[in-house]
Amino acid sequence: MALTKKQTAELAKRAAQGGGVFEYAPAPEAIDHVRIQPSYGLFIGGKMVAPHSKKRFPTINPATEKKLAEVSEADAVDVDRAVKAAGRAFDSWSHLSPSRRARYMFRISRLIQERARELAIVETMDGGKPIKESRDVDIPLASAHFFYYAGWADKLEWAFPNRKPRPLGVAGQVIPWNFPLLMLAWKIAPALAAGNTVVLKPAETTPLSAMVFAEICMQAELPPGVVNIVTGAGKTGALLVEHPGVKKVAFTGSTEVGKQIQRALAGTGKKLTLELGGKAANIVFEDAPLDQAVEGIVNGIYFNQGHVCCAGSRLLVQESIAEPLMEKLKRRLSTLRLGDPLDKNTDIGAINSRAQLEKIQGLVESGVEEGAELYQPECRLPERGFWFPPTLFTNVSQSYRIAREEIFGPVLSVLTFRTPAEAVEKANNTPYGLSAGVWTDKGSRILWMAERLRAGVVWANTFNRFDPTSPFGGYKESGFGREGGIHGLAPYLDLN
Ligand code: NDP
Repeated sequence: MALTKKQTAELAKRAAQGGGVFEYAPAPEAIDHVRIQPSYGLFIGGKMVAPHSKKRFPTINPATEKKLAEVSEADAVDVDRAVKAAGRAFDSWSHLSPSRRARYMFRISRLIQERARELAIVETMDGGKPIKESRDVDIPLASAHFFYYAGWADKLEWAFPNRKPRPLGVAGQVIPWNFPLLMLAWKIAPALAAGNTVVLKPAETTPLSAMVFAEICMQAELPPGVVNIVTGAGKTGALLVEHPGVKKVAFTGSTEVGKQIQRALAGTGKKLTLELGGKAANIVFEDAPLDQAVEGIVNGIYFNQGHVCCAGSRLLVQESIAEPLMEKLKRRLSTLRLGDPLDKNTDIGAINSRAQLEKIQGLVESGVEEGAELYQPECRLPERGFWFPPTLFTNVSQSYRIAREEIFGPVLSVLTFRTPAEAVEKANNTPYGLSAGVWTDKGSRILWMAERLRAGVVWANTFNRFDPTSPFGGYKESGFGREGGIHGLAPYLDLN
């Protein structure tokens, strides 16, 4: 129905006043076609098996706190079975003609596309992220990773000329809860393309999309044992990475656990890649297109509730434009819609778990106590579930915890600078080094900054862009090794 002139004028007036949010009718995604099983086993040797531990734990929807399913808690015997199944599958998988390996991977990529709606819903219900993000980002990118790496399977000698690339064996992979299926794809796709077999442990709070992926492996008729999935908590992850049958470990998660794993593996000869935390600077110069920058800032920190290792959680603004930029940003924040993650209009979904919510609350309190100025738009939080409003801190000093520690929530700390050199110094003043963003009209300044920023990824006039062809990874306490692109194959190969 077309709006009358009067209605249009009224809406424009409300929008111009800043607080005027367009009212949207609810647009919930239909979920009746999705079958979440009441209980899941472990995916070992090509089939779902009951856990030796006989233990299961619930996984809940963080937006409603309702139980979705029970998943198995793998113990040492279960992990050992999974690693042995992967070990048995390795010989034939690594000797299979590379183009046949690719065929399985193309099949997996296509099945992810075919089951995309179901996967997006499962991801959103299990993790709390808005459906528009799981539908438009997580699932398509996961499929794209399998498609991209399938293309490399029979071209490894071209990827690494004059070397003799050989697979390593069984890869033990541990992933976090912020992008469950996407992280699974980042881990499994390059490993399989290189001829390895895998045992993967998803995060305790988001195991369900990995269970659907297990079904996809069976649908694709992937040879038994090439992919194995063991669910459980941190203990299961530790059993996996420390298992002597594992030749290569890939971990994404907190810096603290990354350090524990590195200590545990020292001297074992296992190959290791770590993708850990971040505290990225998103740097806006006075010549940047401000409206575009505001969108990039919002995307940088409020995408996926800020549960993003490369989130632009420290905004560095050139002093001369700090005031107008803050005004625009605050106005934009008031238009973000927080609520039901399954609603297609939702911008900010639920916080992944109670523990994560408490961590965010604690850090935000520390920001107020240390003297930063808090801004939160008016925003009604649902009664059940775990929620945190989009939050902005100004008057932040570099020494505050909110400027130094990874909050992993929708919380932005704003600092200012005067010169490019000061921007670089402040941006690099962090133990992390995963990503950074630069907003400016000048190409030369982008290059000047990118050379000096100690970050694995530097985005220019954009933020949070991902592509399977592009390597991703960190410096310093953000870890080491790269995922994505040709670089992402190297850690899964013996190139000597
Ligand atoms: P963790 O690092 O604990 O979890 C990541 C994965 O590692 C999970 O699968 C976890 O299992 C598993 N794990 C935990 N302990 C061990 C261990 N000793 N050996 C092997 N695997 C283990 O992150 P959290 O979920 O506890 O989140 C805490 C903080 O970490 C967040 O607030 C955030 O700051 C940061 N984080 C960073 C991520 C990133 O992408 N850089 C991702 C996730 C968190 P389980 O889930 O069962 O505990």
